[in-house]
Amino acid sequence: MSDDITSFENFSLSPAIYKVIDEVGYETPTPIQSRSIPPLLEGRDLLGQAQTGTGKTAAFALPLLSRLQPRLKVPQILVLTPTRELALQVAEAMQTYSRHLPNFQVLPVYGGQNMVQQLRQLQRGVQVVVGTPGRIKDHLQRKTLKLDKVASVVIDEADEMLKMGFIDDVEEILALAAEDHQTALFSATMPKEVLTIARKHLKDPVEIRIKGKTSTVEKISQHFWQVKGLHKLDALTRILEAEEIDGMIIFVRTKVATVELAEKLEARGFSSAALNGDMSQMLREKTVERLKDGSLDIVVATDVAARGLDVKRISHVVNYDIPYDIEAYIHRIGRTGRAGREGKAILFVAPREKRMLSAIERATKQPIKAMALPSRKDITNRRINQFKEQIAAAMESEDLEFFEELIDSYQSEYDTGHRRIAAALAFLLQKDRPLQMDEQVAEEIQAEGAPEKSRSRRDNRGGDADKQSYRIEVGRIHGVEPGNIVGAISNEGKINSGDIGRIRIFDNFSLVDLPENISADKLHKLKSVWVCDEQLQISPDSGNAPSIAKRSSRRQRFGAGKTAGSAQQTKTRSAVKNPRRGKKPVKNLSGS
Ligand code: AMP
Repeated sequence: MSDDITSFENFSLSPAIYKVIDEVGYETPTPIQSRSIPPLLEGRDLLGQAQTGTGKTAAFALPLLSRLQPRLKVPQILVLTPTRELALQVAEAMQTYSRHLPNFQVLPVYGGQNMVQQLRQLQRGVQVVVGTPGRIKDHLQRKTLKLDKVASVVIDEADEMLKMGFIDDVEEILALAAEDHQTALFSATMPKEVLTIARKHLKDPVEIRIKGKTSTVEKISQHFWQVKGLHKLDALTRILEAEEIDGMIIFVRTKVATVELAEKLEARGFSSAALNGDMSQMLREKTVERLKDGSLDIVVATDVAARGLDVKRISHVVNYDIPYDIEAYIHRIGRTGRAGREGKAILFVAPREKRMLSAIERATKQPIKAMALPSRKDITNRRINQFKEQIAAAMESEDLEFFEELIDSYQSEYDTGHRRIAAALAFLLQKDRPLQMDEQVAEEIQAEGAPEKSRSRRDNRGGDADKQSYRIEVGRIHGVEPGNIVGAISNEGKINSGDIGRIRIFDNFSLVDLPENISADKLHKLKSVWVCDEQLQISPDSGNAPSIAKRSSRRQRFGAGKTAGSAQQTKTRSAVKNPRRGKKPVKNLSGS
């Protein structure tokens, strides 16, 4: 990695692109970016062997968008992807990176999508088309898409295209593209057939291979959690509560994310701080000092900011965002297991990042074990044990005479047993952080303004038959109310408030029923809309949300048998910040 360009400033990207790099908070180019951006900016062809998660999309999008002519309203960049998901993802990234290009249009094109809508958008003039080979070929045959002015063609995940039988289509498409276009081909593996295509269609390509080195990391036990069902933040919170942690470093990809995550953890009562390249040297040193002396337990860092960090008490490294390459992974986990101690590394892996996981295992020659998250019951037991320890510690070390007399006087005054008094006190003590881990309980609310007729057409799940449930990443803990959601969706998404159906608000997210036929464009716009300081990041609901029927389980709370008390606990917990924030933990970081 030593010959790589380590700063974006060393490239000659366009000002509009530099502006967005700054806004999204990319600190340094990833290895594939430092090697791909210069030749692609020069208009050269490129053959890149790299996996998803390495920053590959930006590696081609940033230079190609820098070369785009915004005034020319014809397709100038074509990206071919094997799947509709990847097409949408790349189109979305292109949309973000082109934020400051005037009148820019990108169109995702894939099978199964409404043809009329695609045609209309193509007629309006788009500069970037991202799509699956079959549908692109369709449009080329109908002459609804022309590639005679295309300057760059990207073939993404060529080995996947091969597996899916799209390679012939890709060749046909390449034959119809403008003669002098540049071509970039990316593939995670390089089977013979992909190399043949590359040899045939790439002119004197720059060849890049992002490979990993082997290394021994025996002292560190490595685990991964497959991101599923729960949000990463919730998973992290459970880990923080259940593990015996001394110090922890959490790796994320961007500077913005370091601050956001550290703030979210603070709000949940964990003493944490960001560490990134935007902070002054002095502040960075101070943060590391605090981590060393134990006045801070968690640091959320980018790779660059944590380079060389040597803090003995780091017992855990969490790869909240998967690293771009194996070398970065090895560096990250090497922040634990220092000075002969044992360390634990945890990697969060989304389904599409599985390849990187196997690549890391191969390179480190160590197994990375799948880990199950601690269950609600585990966490409840843990909180109860800690609570008991606190009681024992107070009995042992404090002079309690005054309080003993107080309790005696209460008992005789109100004729109440000790057990009941102790239970009431326990309730008061733990009410801001209930000992029993909360079930995520939804408040089911029908959006104001939803017409009576749609309510009567509900299907047996309680939703509207003609509606689809969407998940938005703002919930009770962010202070959201149904009115905020309806307002944002109707104003920003231009969806009639009467068409907004059921809204269910959970702790960290909400579900909202919207018309089935809502356009991809509207959904895309809604993704970046802010409500209560959170972006909606709307996506179709996967059906993992807990059912409303679970509500009754909230009643069985430790030390607070009454329903009224339980309801109050839930409310307090979500609305009030943990008053114990920043205090020293008893045994683990939660400080329960
Ligand atoms: P990709 O390999 O294209 O799927 O990218 C993986 C993720 O890395 C995306 O979420 C990008 O936003 C992010 N990313 C790409 N380049 C950088 C960078 N230089 N610094 C930080 N994050 C990046």
